[in-house]
Amino acid sequence: MVEKAGKHAARDLSGRVAIVTGGGTGLGLEIALTMARRGAAIAIASRSPEHLEEGRGALEAEGARTLSVPCDVRDPHAVRRLVREVEEELGAVDILVNNAAGNFVRPAEALPEKAFANVVDIVLNGTFNCSRATGRAMIAGGRGGVILNIVATYAWTGGPGTIHSACAKAGVLALTRTLAVEWARRGIRVVAIAPGPFESEGAADRLWPSQELEERVRRSIPLGRFATRREVAAAAAWLVSDEAAYVTGECLTLDGGGWLGRGVLGADEPIPKVRRRRR
Ligand code: NAP
Repeated sequence: MVEKAGKHAARDLSGRVAIVTGGGTGLGLEIALTMARRGAAIAIASRSPEHLEEGRGALEAEGARTLSVPCDVRDPHAVRRLVREVEEELGAVDILVNNAAGNFVRPAEALPEKAFANVVDIVLNGTFNCSRATGRAMIAGGRGGVILNIVATYAWTGGPGTIHSACAKAGVLALTRTLAVEWARRGIRVVAIAPGPFESEGAADRLWPSQELEERVRRSIPLGRFATRREVAAAAAWLVSDEAAYVTGECLTLDGGGWLGRGVLGADEPIPKVRRRRR
């Protein structure tokens, strides 16, 4: 028994304090719940009181020490207040998950400048605001910590129809690698995950609103299915744990092979037996 507990001790998050932005819904909530089950105290932060209330209720039902803080990640003052409040109520922050995002499908030529700027503001500037405020606190406390960013594979493949989000996520990937080096000597690891499509109300409504479109997305994934939120959250919880203590600046892709090239023979049909032509 003792050996068994020891085997998983490095995955344990007991005594850690985590902030999850956008932690009241979708993947953010699933990551918050997974970290809570591993012992972390969790602060969720977002704009909508309903999201915060629902998320907090779900976390408290798991017996977690929980705080929900109204915060728009675009506002650096609000983000600084968030970090202060979490420190006062739960203690020094060990983990930050930058999960808050906005997204929708629109051809680039029809995308208003304001909409582009808004998504970049939430995803890229918001991630910077939260990372800087939390990083400063981690540096001042001298305990180090972990920052986990949620990106998407179109950060490097490009994302037709979602240029705003693709550009913002590419920036977040650069931020991940930059801070990983800049803050390594401060004991802060900075990592990312790039999930492929998974079910969430937000994504379903805005990214594949019809069954036909959803099926098209599913068919594009070599493993033939969407990820479950639990699968993605388990990877996130591992990356922020001590088991991943030597991982920094890395982005873990969980997309069922979705972004990989298909070669000339593709992934949909079995590879045919080809007889060589006689010359
Ligand atoms: P979701 O349910 O739509 O959640 C987005 C969250 O962000 C919401 O809780 C929202 O809360 C919060 N948020 C939005 N703007 C905010 C702001 N200005 N300040 C603070 N919080 C804000 O999204 P999801 O589908 O679970 O996606 C979670 C993450 O995974 C995102 O980073 C997304 O880009 C990434 N991702 C998703 C997929 C997918 O298939 N769904 C694939 C790849 C990557 P409020 O409304 O309360 O502010």
